[in-house]
Amino acid sequence: MGRIIVTGGAGFIGSHLTDRALSEGHEVIVVDNLITGSLENLAHLKDDPRLTFVRHDVTKPLEVKGPVHGILHFASPASPEDYLRYPIQTLKVGSLGTHNVLGIAKAKNAPVVVASTSEVYGDPLVHPQTEDYWGNVNPVGPRSCYDEAKRFQEALTMAYHRMHGVRTRIVRIFNTYGPRMRLADGRVLPNFLCQALRGQSLTIYGDGSQTRSFCFVSDLVDGIWRLLHTEESDPVNIGNPAEMTIRQFGEKILEMTGSASRFQQRPLPQDDPKVRRPDITRAQKLLSWEPRISLEEGLRETIEDFRRRL
Ligand code: NAD
Ligand code: UDP
Repeated sequence: MGRIIVTGGAGFIGSHLTDRALSEGHEVIVVDNLITGSLENLAHLKDDPRLTFVRHDVTKPLEVKGPVHGILHFASPASPEDYLRYPIQTLKVGSLGTHNVLGIAKAKNAPVVVASTSEVYGDPLVHPQTEDYWGNVNPVGPRSCYDEAKRFQEALTMAYHRMHGVRTRIVRIFNTYGPRMRLADGRVLPNFLCQALRGQSLTIYGDGSQTRSFCFVSDLVDGIWRLLHTEESDPVNIGNPAEMTIRQFGEKILEMTGSASRFQQRPLPQDDPKVRRPDITRAQKLLSWEPRISLEEGLRETIEDFRRRL
């Protein structure tokens, strides 16, 4: 059993990864500046002596004493509304933050998983997206602070792997949902669920024909945990290939919440990807992984969590 660092561990995905690492018998050091995360996400662990919380901005140098056996680098604003509000912080955490984290991985000879994203494919011209597709990103558009930070993060990670032999892994995460998502983070699921449960109109951006593929968080965490234990340095897509339009997603949420809300159209944000769906062949072969939780099961659990917190 060892010590695992989780950057962004007070966030949605990071807190679930923290749970997983503890349940596997590790000690966990969460490093988070709480810019978009919350200690509420770790409240259920407050009496666990194996968890240490360090409030720190990972773009600033960080010294960790003692051995480290693994690093999960998940610090970064992730919702489009968040990264549009914090574009410079987002660029800094993907670049300077990743540089600091890779330095720790090198010094401690620890394997490191860095959280990349389907946004590296931009508004994709290849569908579904395979890892060898280089993407279609607007380098100066509003989303570029996130997309280019993550692309730089991948380049820096590969350079540390090639130059210093750091045991790096890159996970390209596709839209993930589940309990603990911030109610007001602005992503489609929290928006639609809060609106449906409050009897408000569901805000559809554009005509709702754009597609996404939603992965339940426990499936994602399982894929990341498997990836940590491989020696694969090339990027690996983790996501659920079940693709649907945003309108269909809204209809599913209305059906499952029993809400009588209707749709209300809003302008489509600039550079909003028109389609998105992971090709998960690499994860299937390399990790013997594929998602197991259906949208209905995942939504049921997420709706319960949202009802409790609303
Ligand atoms: P989140 O906002 O809930 O969590 C991010 C966490 O990082 C927060 O707790 C935040 O406070 C922390 N953080 C941000 N900047 C920091 C800094 N400079 N120093 C220390 N902590 C910092 O978002 P999430 O959905 O849990 O996303 C986690 C990671 O997964 C991100 O790297 C994101 O890019 C990636 N990702 C998520 C999705 C998704 O669908 N949720 C998809 C693709 C990629
Ligand atoms: N979206 C929407 N209504 C909302 C929030 C988002 O129609 O209230 C759309 C958004 O335009 C995008 C999709 O839902 O096409 C997913 O958006 P999200 O912000 O969750 O993440 P993205 O996949 O764009 O990173």
